[in-house]
Amino acid sequence: MGPAPWPTRSGPAADRPENLVGQGRLLAHPRARDDNTERNGHHPVDTLRSNVTVCNEMGEAKRRAAAPPKCRGCGSPITKENDSEAHIIPNALGGNLKPKGIICRECNTKLDAIADNALIEAFGDWPTLIDIPRDRGHNPPRIVNTRQGRRVRLEPDGSMSAIDVRYEVTEVEGGHSVEIAAGNWKTFRQLLKRASKDFPALDPIVAEQNARKVGIDDDDELKLGFDFSPEAIFGGLITAIWLFLIHRTGRSFMDWDQLLQVINSMQDHGGTFRYLVDGLPGLRGPEIPIGHKIIVRCVPESGELIAYVEILGILRVGGVFAGAGGPAKQIEHIYAYDVLERSDRSREFSIDLQKFNQQNWREVGLGPDDAERLRDHFRSALGAVFVRRYKERFSPSDVAAEGAASSPA
Ligand SMILES: [Zn+2]
Repeated sequence: MGPAPWPTRSGPAADRPENLVGQGRLLAHPRARDDNTERNGHHPVDTLRSNVTVCNEMGEAKRRAAAPPKCRGCGSPITKENDSEAHIIPNALGGNLKPKGIICRECNTKLDAIADNALIEAFGDWPTLIDIPRDRGHNPPRIVNTRQGRRVRLEPDGSMSAIDVRYEVTEVEGGHSVEIAAGNWKTFRQLLKRASKDFPALDPIVAEQNARKVGIDDDDELKLGFDFSPEAIFGGLITAIWLFLIHRTGRSFMDWDQLLQVINSMQDHGGTFRYLVDGLPGLRGPEIPIGHKIIVRCVPESGELIAYVEILGILRVGGVFAGAGGPAKQIEHIYAYDVLERSDRSREFSIDLQKFNQQNWREVGLGPDDAERLRDHFRSALGAVFVRRYKERFSPSDVAAEGAASSPA
């Protein structure tokens, strides 16, 4: 055996067994020797070579089973204690896919700060208003402004209470009328105390007994926004695809530093993603009123890896996630989740290859510059999905999505 032709790097090549098979250089790999206890110098080289290859793969599999996975962010071993079990689509938006062993808590917190929190905020008060079923915990109460400038506390059960503090005195025939309002009993009682000092004829006990909970006036409406700008949503979508790819393929397609860079540039100017307002071209499957979808698929000829994310039936974005720079091996992963039914319905979906492969993925759908059409789209999407769900729950008319969508930056 001559000098070892093994490259100086160690580690990464061993993670790709398919590259090792049939390469004579494997013989020089120290790990191969460690794992092959049967090895001795008397075998013919060819036999030895195949033995070593097989043994090395077996040893590798054993090693992988024994060793804890490493965080794809910082590289530290992931243990039970620090495994973030990150939700691929945030829990606050009803996501339930949370694979183990991908990133540590610390790195997950970083992703939350730079990408996921903005995505959650983009949906504003809607998850509470329509009470999206969560994987963990409950939707939090929200303070919402009304069109008439009042503030309302919104509970996930749909109840609302005005929380503005009011102390208004008007003169009426034979005395005064005092109107008191507060968002909690403590403030309300303080105001009553003040009123009974100002107007000794007022009995605070009777007044408190007559107090009633008020929501919003008949002619008022909740102001509910949705921010669909790349700044708000694209980072969280890239993160979801990145986690999904690791979960499904074991490969990340971009390392941590690249991921952070891509998040940054996508938030900045939209990058290669588009608003696929009619859904992913070529995707076949049933209507799910409120669902999540993540789809990654290769265009074999160009090698472009196309990714698509749909969140709560409202947000539909996708485009070129990565490129192979030429023909590539087929990759196809489809995930579809029915949020209201809490069921995985991936098997009901498939892709029309002709339609999919024929798209010009850099021009499909709408781009961030198409502000007016995007506003129109999101207004009607909010009406068709969220407002409908709200009305199905309570059948009131005091919510409107019209004019509520924010324009992209
Ligand atoms: Zn980490």
